[in-house]
Parts: sequence; structure tokens; C-alpha cells
Amino acid sequence: MNELTTISIKAIKGIGEETAQALEDMHIHSVHDLLEHFPYRYEDYELKDLAEAKHDEKVTVEGKVHSVPSLTYYGKKRSRLTFRLLVNRYLITVTCFNRPYYKSKLEIDQTVTVTGKWDQHRQTINLQELQFSPFVKNQTIEPVYSVKGSLTVKGMRKFVSLALKNYGSSIQDMLPASIRSRYKLVTREEAVRSIHLPRDHEDLKQARRRFVYEEFLLFQLKMQALRKREREETPGMKQVFDSTELVNFTNLLPFPLTNAQKRVVNEITHDMKSPYRMNRLLQGDVGSGKTVVAAVALYATVLAGHQGALMVPTEILAEQHAESLTAMLEKVGISVGLLTGSVKGKARRELLQRVKDGDVHVLVGTHALIQDEVIYNSLGLVITDEQHRFGVGQRRVLREKGESPDVLFMTATPIPRTLAITVFGEMDVSIIDEMPAGRKAIETYWVKHDMLERILHFVEKEIHDGRQAYVICPLIEESDKLDVQNAIDVHATLTHYFNGKASVGLMHGRLSPDEKEEVMKQFSVNDVQILVSTTVVEVGVNVPNATVMVIYDAERFGLSQLHQLRGRVGRGDAQSYCILLADPKSEVGKERMTIMTETNDGFVLSERDLELRGPGDFFGRKQSGMPEFKVADMVHDYRALEVAREDAAKLVNSDSFWTEDQFALLRIQLEATGVLTGEKFD
Ligand code: ADP
Ligand code: MG
Repeated sequence: MNELTTISIKAIKGIGEETAQALEDMHIHSVHDLLEHFPYRYEDYELKDLAEAKHDEKVTVEGKVHSVPSLTYYGKKRSRLTFRLLVNRYLITVTCFNRPYYKSKLEIDQTVTVTGKWDQHRQTINLQELQFSPFVKNQTIEPVYSVKGSLTVKGMRKFVSLALKNYGSSIQDMLPASIRSRYKLVTREEAVRSIHLPRDHEDLKQARRRFVYEEFLLFQLKMQALRKREREETPGMKQVFDSTELVNFTNLLPFPLTNAQKRVVNEITHDMKSPYRMNRLLQGDVGSGKTVVAAVALYATVLAGHQGALMVPTEILAEQHAESLTAMLEKVGISVGLLTGSVKGKARRELLQRVKDGDVHVLVGTHALIQDEVIYNSLGLVITDEQHRFGVGQRRVLREKGESPDVLFMTATPIPRTLAITVFGEMDVSIIDEMPAGRKAIETYWVKHDMLERILHFVEKEIHDGRQAYVICPLIEESDKLDVQNAIDVHATLTHYFNGKASVGLMHGRLSPDEKEEVMKQFSVNDVQILVSTTVVEVGVNVPNATVMVIYDAERFGLSQLHQLRGRVGRGDAQSYCILLADPKSEVGKERMTIMTETNDGFVLSERDLELRGPGDFFGRKQSGMPEFKVADMVHDYRALEVAREDAAKLVNSDSFWTEDQFALLRIQLEATGVLTGEKFD
């Protein structure tokens, strides 16, 4: 791609066979690779004003020796040397361990530069490095590199600085001057020089700004190119239907749509009518009313003469969705089928036949929907609920079952916008950011476990008033390793406590589907008042009469998950409560609990979660589509990410990007990702 990739690292003075091998082991083969091996941190020797220094901070100061050093030995080898140093108007102490030889070298009034940890309380620097001449170090911020094997940081510094000296001027800039000047970005050569050998903090800042933008732009170009290609190459379905029919349908609902619901319905139906294939993410907090939106879209595809499929992660959820969709859609003559693993034998064969014949208009189910045996008559729309639980592969298989169905991914996990436009960069995003009117905010309390007794009294009172409660535990069975409350134990305890006052059900992932369904049914008709459960109830379950959500060991859950759990209550007219039982030890744990009590807004929570957990952990282990950036940080640099996304979209859809010389290097970068030719296409 550029000439430096073709120059071996051995061309650099001092890199022989052995060093070259060690570098190769770190995937550094060429001069280009070496220059792209950025420091992961810096040693900061910039002179510090002690008035600004923080306790325990590493500082470098210049001053005059103000007292004769005193030396104390303890044992034969261990010693401590202290002397007073006058730094500007400050008189401080310098302490130095096990370097007795300094005593004879230090003279009163001599100027020295000391580096070490600043003890603000004792006004003392614990010396790490001492220089006798006035401050002459020209590299005040030194790069620290990751190294392996026989390599040393010092060696790396030397090699990198030689590489910069001899080859720096050959560093090409993929960003054209037009873009650089728009954002006042330094050239790539300057940025590479500064990231390795910054003269000062400003240098480093400018280098960072440049790389943040570059990394985001390249990433977003890839996403936008992917999106463009998908649009151009996948023939979409132009679904033809009469929108007034949709309005008539929504008029049959027991409530008016919220403005947000209307808006996203418009966005979705607009996509469906267009000749492109819809690839849209619908985000809406728990309870924001995504199911209705799905129903409208499914009705639209049926009006256009096709079938719709709704795929959900669990059987319970599939049943609930089938039920609520049937209630809404049968009024307009739409037949809804339910396909799960539990539908077997003759019933299954008949259902599949009706799907094939087109007699089933809307099919709801778990991943069973994408098995080979399911043949659709004409699949026009695929909706998945809780999108991030499905792998990319599954989505593709389902998509390929139809000719080219429109695809809608629904999620109740509010994803911070930064992540949404990153992980789902090639998708369009719709957001329901408004709750149906009249919802009461759920009151959330964080209490220590020793308050359990009072909490149980409270639950008892709610049940006495005819309400129901969930009690969530992190684990199913007792584990030796983790001291956490488990569902089976808690179930036993509560059964005993509520003996004669309430019936307590137990639900967890190891129950058979039939058993789960049975428990769920009992809870939904209030035969069971308290449901002790693991997180299987996390997604989607709807029992409006439940008003209390108690979560044991709440510190074990992430914010998003806690919010999902909380969303199981507050679904009816009555005031609901969420009680977090937690004794978090870490600051982050405490912070999480506090945030939960402060806001009911899933988007606010998700932003905070992202801050606390970092982008890598946000989705947990399951979702790893996260790009890795060398310099950029999606959380802190999110503004740059948005800017880069807009720029990338404009570029990819402009002629000049594909023809003008100034964009040639960016095009080469993009080609290298494979998105243009189709190697990368989920
Ligand atoms: P989610 O987005 O979590 O899937 P649901 O679709 O299950 O939310 O909707 C939650 C509840 O809100 C349901 O009982 C539904 O009937 C109700 N609902 C949906 N939209 C509205 C609305 N516009 N006005 C009043 N209630 C609504
Ligand atoms: Mg839902």
C-alpha cells in the first residue's frame, strides 16, 4: 500500500537477525509496521509546577540543593538519603533510597533535576531519577512501547527514532488536504512523529486528534461502503400497500400510537415501499411499545401479498408475542402461526404446510423459524426481537429464505448511539424515545441484604393488595465458588416465609419448556403470586399485575440487564417498585446501584453503562463485532465518531470520492478491507 510496507525492518541500523525475529514475533515486519507500533503510554518528564501536582503523581522538577544531604544506613546495603531542594519558591524534601553515592556528588546551590513521586502531605519527592545538570532532556515525554522477548523499551525507542529519521518523510497521508484543513488536522507524517516523540503535550494532543479522526473515518467508510453495496447488489422488495389501511388498523387498537411510534412506523413502511431492502434497527426502551410497531409492519407486508416472520429468543416470548399479535391482527383477518420446538408431529407438519401454502400470514417462533424444513410461500418481512441475541449467521439464513425480505431488528437494550452507529454502522436506526402516556415511573430502591425482612413485609403488603412480585437471583443452584443467593434456595426460604399467605413459583433455565410454560401460566393468571427466577424472565415477559421486582445480589448484573429486569414491572396502571438487594464492594458496583435509583431512562443508563464497562464489555461475550481502535476511544471521542460517520456517508455516496486523485489513498484503504469486492459481507 505504501513503500514503507516493502522495506524490511532489517534496513534499520542496529536491527540484526535476532532483533528482527523478536520484532517479527510481534508482527512487526516492515518499517511501516514499526512506525505503526504506537506507544501504549508515556513517561512524562515535563517540568511540573508543584502547586499543580497531585498527591502520588510522578513529577519532574528543577531546583537548587538547599541542604547538605543526610545519609542513614540501616543494615549493610539499605540506606536513605535526604536533602532539601528549593524549587521556585517552594522548599521541599527529596528522599532517595539505596543510592548513598549521591551524597558526595550533591553540593549546596547546585542545580539538579529530580523525577519521582510527589508526596503532597510530606512535601517530599521520592526520587526515581536524578540529573545533575540543569534540565536538558530534549525528550520530556518518553514513549513506552509494549515489547516481547529480547526486545527492550530503550531499543524500541532507538529503532523507532531511526526509522522516523530515515523514512519519516515517506509517510503518506491518506487524508486529503481538503479534509485536514476542515478540521485543522496535522499531516500523517507529523502525527506519526508526534505520537512517538512528542515535544510536548500539545503535540500529543494534535497527533491523537488526527488519528482518532482517521481511524473513525476509515471504519465508517467501510460501514457506509458496505451499506451502499448491499443496497445496490441485493435486489430489494418494493412492497406495495395502501397506507390508509394501516391507519385503519391502528384505529382499531385500544390506544392511540405515541408520536414516536408513528414516526418509526413511517420510517419502516417507507423502507418497505422503497426498492431497497430494509436493514433497520429499531430501538425502544422496555415498555415503549415495539410490539405494536411490529404488528403494523407485519400487516403491511401481508397487505402487499407477502408473509411476515417474527423471531424471538425464547419459547415463552414466542408464545406471548403470538398471543398479542393474534389479538391485534385477527381483527383484520390475519392468521398468526406459532412455531417452536414444542410444536411436534402432526401439528407441526400441518403448520408447515399452511406456511408453505401461504395460509399462515405471520409466523412467530424461536430459531425454529430458520430451519430448513420451513418453506415460506413468499417471505416479505423478517423481524427479530432482542436482536443482539441472534448471531449474524442466523440472520442471514433467515433472510435468504425469502427472495429478499425486508429486515427489522428490534431491541429493548438501549444501545448508546455511539455503539449503535459503530456495531450497526451499516444499518439504519429508528428510535422510540417516548413512553406511552400515563405510565408511572417505577420507584427504585437500593438496600443492603440485611434489610430483607422489611422488603419481605413490603412484598407481603403488595400481595395483600392483589399484586404480584418477581424475585430474581443470579444463579440456579448453590455454588461453592460464588457466595450468591440462588433461585432454589431463595424459593425454599420464601415458600416457608409466605406459607399460607402466597404461593411461590420457581423458574429457571434448567426447567423443561413445558415446566417453564406451566409456571409462567400460573404466574400470569395470578395462581402464583411470587415468581422466584433466574434471568430467564429478563426479556419481554408481560404480566401487568406484577408490581414488585426484587433483585438479589444486584451488583452482579450490568446496568442494562438490571434495567431489563426492572422493565418486567410497571406494565400496568399501579405504582411499581424495583428493589435492589446489594452489598457492592467496588466503587463501580456502588455507582451502578446509585444510577439505577436515579433514572428510569434506558438510554441514559446505557450511556453510563458504557462509561463504566467500556465498549469491549458492553454486550458481554456474545457480541464481539466490536472494532478495535488503536488511538480512538468510542466513549470519549464519540463526537468525532459522529462527524466521521457523516463524512463517510457523504464521501461514499459522492462521485468525487470514487474518481478524484485526492481520495486515491482512502480508496486503497477501503479496498484492502474487502468490502468493495464482497469478501466481507456478513
Ligand atoms: P416493548 O417495547 O417492551 O416490547 P410492548 O410492545 O410489550 O413494549 O408494550 C408494552 C405495553 O404497552 C403493552 O401492554 C402495550 O399494549 C402497551 N402500549 C403500546 N403502545 C401503547 C400506546 N401507544 N399507548 C398505550 N399503551 C401502549
Ligand atoms: Mg417487546
